[in-house]
Amino acid sequence: MNHFHYNDGRLFAEDVDLTQLAEKVGTPFYCYSSATLARHYRVFADAFPKGTLIAYSVKANGNLGVLRTLAELGAGADVVSGGELKKALKAGIPANRIVFSGVGKTRAEMMLGLDAGIHQFNVESEPELVALNGVAKDLGKRAPITIRINPDVDAKTHAKITTGTSENKFGIPWSRARAAYTLAASLPSLEIVGVDMHIGSQITELSPFEAAFARVADLVKTLRADGHAIKRIDLGGGLGVPYAPTDPAPPAPELYGAAVSRAVADLGCDLILEPGRLIAANAGVLVSRVTYVKEGEAKKFLILDAGMNDLIRPAMYDAHHEIVSVREAPNSAVYDVVGPVCESSDLFGANRRLPELKEGDLVALLTAGAYGAVMASAYNARPPAAEVLVKGEQWAVVRPRMSDDELIGLDRIPGWLAPQA
Ligand SMILES: *Cc1c(COP(=O)(O)O)cnc(C)c1O
Repeated sequence: MNHFHYNDGRLFAEDVDLTQLAEKVGTPFYCYSSATLARHYRVFADAFPKGTLIAYSVKANGNLGVLRTLAELGAGADVVSGGELKKALKAGIPANRIVFSGVGKTRAEMMLGLDAGIHQFNVESEPELVALNGVAKDLGKRAPITIRINPDVDAKTHAKITTGTSENKFGIPWSRARAAYTLAASLPSLEIVGVDMHIGSQITELSPFEAAFARVADLVKTLRADGHAIKRIDLGGGLGVPYAPTDPAPPAPELYGAAVSRAVADLGCDLILEPGRLIAANAGVLVSRVTYVKEGEAKKFLILDAGMNDLIRPAMYDAHHEIVSVREAPNSAVYDVVGPVCESSDLFGANRRLPELKEGDLVALLTAGAYGAVMASAYNARPPAAEVLVKGEQWAVVRPRMSDDELIGLDRIPGWLAPQA
């Protein structure tokens, strides 16, 4: 369910005509729908008991306009860097609704979190426990912590986004969970508040979640028997979204919520969830203009002004994004849709059925609101796409495109070289 639809033969975002918007802001640009963000947030939040902390995963889409929209709905935040922490605070998300995840928190980042008074640190290794204890001690504080335990289940998702098996860098191995809690309990500047897990992203079946929730529930009982005060369970994010019409429908949030309840309701813990993609993916499109239609020997190429530097998911994860014409017309042609970047992997989709298009026409890449703009780079010295947020008939540029001068101006020629001519 989203708020991008055709109106009189032209694609709209809520009540904003994307063709007119493209004239005003230039292409390529990301366009996000406030109504879709709000709808997804509410549907997800409503699937859990009152009082559950919905800590939106900032890494999916950390634009301040998006964060502020979610903050007004009551969202907390899951952050994975000091930069994301500052963004969440700047968007008005209260510190006591922010959790800090990630395998490589630096001491400086720990200090930021402690100074702000965040809800908890999700600690991912024994050395991190020791480091956080030291930083908290120096500040005269106690750090609220969970330990991210790796439940060692196969999330059945793409290899680059699975995180819950024994072979990847995230979390503490299942076999060391009790020992890690014993270590944490011996460190006086840490306060154990719960357990944490996150098994991966774009998971479209309930069974891996159910397996992981069951293991975590068992662990809570074991840890309590060991004398630890486990009062919170953070179950991570990872619920997938359909990208292609043929994709299996991921479990509805109600079913996911029911599975959580079945597994952990009797433990009496406060719950935390960290959805990212589910909230933001369908709330965004990437609008791009056709630069050329090129007849290859075997194929017809639609060369766009957006490239893999703007949206890297197809190149990085073999991800599928639906591509539609902004002007509604019957699909009568087949194209390989590509960007201008000098890499063969700069391919948004092969053999895509689209209307007959010409130079200057607009297309939209759908389901691009999560892991889109946040992963953009300036590869090929291309300033990444602008970002626009729509609400009803209002729109605002929430991140302008950098000018070439701004982008180039970040470089410096060192003093030992002659200044440029
Ligand atoms: C990426 C991530 C999330 C969000 O995952 P989605 O698949 O976008 O829901 C949540 N928690 C942690 C720790 C993450 O790394």
